[in-house]
Amino acid sequence: MAVNPVNSKKCSFCGRSPNQVRRMISGEFANICDECIETCNDLVAQEFVRLESERKKQLPTPREIYGFLDSYIIGQDSAKRALSVAVYNHYKRVSPYLSWIDKTKDKRENVEQKNEVDIFKSNILLIGPTGTGKTYLAKTLAKIMDVPFAIVDATSLTEAGYIGEDVENILANLLNNANNDIKRAEKGIVYIDEIDKIARKSESANLARDVSGEGVQQGLLKIIEGTVANIPVMQGKKHPGQEMVKIDTSNILFICSGSFAGMEKIISKRINKRGVGFASSVEKSNDDSDLFNQVSVEDLHEFGMIPEFIGRLPVLAVVQPLSQVQLVEILTKPKNSIVKQYQKLFEIDGVRLDFDDEALNFIAKEAIDRETGARGLRSIIEKILEPVMFEIPSQKNVKKVVVRLNGDGVIEPVILGVHDSKMAMNS
Ligand code: ADP
Repeated sequence: MAVNPVNSKKCSFCGRSPNQVRRMISGEFANICDECIETCNDLVAQEFVRLESERKKQLPTPREIYGFLDSYIIGQDSAKRALSVAVYNHYKRVSPYLSWIDKTKDKRENVEQKNEVDIFKSNILLIGPTGTGKTYLAKTLAKIMDVPFAIVDATSLTEAGYIGEDVENILANLLNNANNDIKRAEKGIVYIDEIDKIARKSESANLARDVSGEGVQQGLLKIIEGTVANIPVMQGKKHPGQEMVKIDTSNILFICSGSFAGMEKIISKRINKRGVGFASSVEKSNDDSDLFNQVSVEDLHEFGMIPEFIGRLPVLAVVQPLSQVQLVEILTKPKNSIVKQYQKLFEIDGVRLDFDDEALNFIAKEAIDRETGARGLRSIIEKILEPVMFEIPSQKNVKKVVVRLNGDGVIEPVILGVHDSKMAMNS
């Protein structure tokens, strides 16, 4: 016969008997000892503190968000503005920020109670060339808002039932980055890169079904718009196997991004169709970035994005190619700039590293020629500095390295010794 836990008088939580504890409280169906009561109190108090601090979290204004972005990201002014407003509007819908708005007692009060208007999500489509800061903008936004962040490559996704990553796995990634805290994950930011690579293939493509393009866009619709998805949680090495949890995606901000190569032609074709006046003004400024600024829903559709998908990304932000001056700023200005990182590396060996302005401009120009945006900067500098980084640790008395352009217009790192005299490499 099964022992009734209450009759046994043992604590139903820790299993200790009355003579092992100071006090045992018995209910109809369970007993609890004084120590377990204390533990429960602590847990409830901790949860209370967490909720209270969440509630007090203030929503930064668009200007504050912009200011923060500005201290990390060079240029991209219009994208920074569009994102600041979109992120502000998005998180206005999300508790705990909503409760903060209630407390301001201004015209925004009681938004929560008056629920007759549903505010739609401001998911974002971020377009523009590679290496110009799209991912960096999204990552920085997650940092400002203090929410978990996940990046996924659209090309790795497949329609459910096909080989490849299921659309739901995006959320598993986010949950993991939120330390498996579902509530936190549900307010996170998901960045889907290379979204242009899942454009619908041309009508002429001889495919029975467009598994990698239109099908994936269809598959993404629901989670981007807001649904409750079943997500596998990894249990770690100790507990192999998977548990499923439910995640509501209605407050997750989705930022989809892509370079949309070839879009210029589509935009230009559309504009050229609309009368000579417009056409001539576009021809005059034969600049792709100007064209990108005029991108419309119609152009995205023509490119191969399905209307339902575009409809779920109401905020469109465009990033521009970076100029040579901006690339030099990226090299030198941010707190963690590439030049500062190499200077730190050299400093550890007791060597000062300097770059002449001409050399910095040369490096920026090289990145522009390679069409890699700021992404190419690191590898260009790495290649220039590699010979000295090989030599310096085995040379004594090196005081300084200067990267400069020599008389032949070739970039070279010059090693200077204790007496400021040029030292030969490989000596
Ligand atoms: P994208 O996503 O547009 O291809 P990324 O954001 O990944 O480009 O840029 C790569 C790296 O280059 C970033 O991590 C950052 O260090 C640097 N970078 C790119 N654009 C900028 C920018 N506008 N301001 C500052 N750094 C930038």
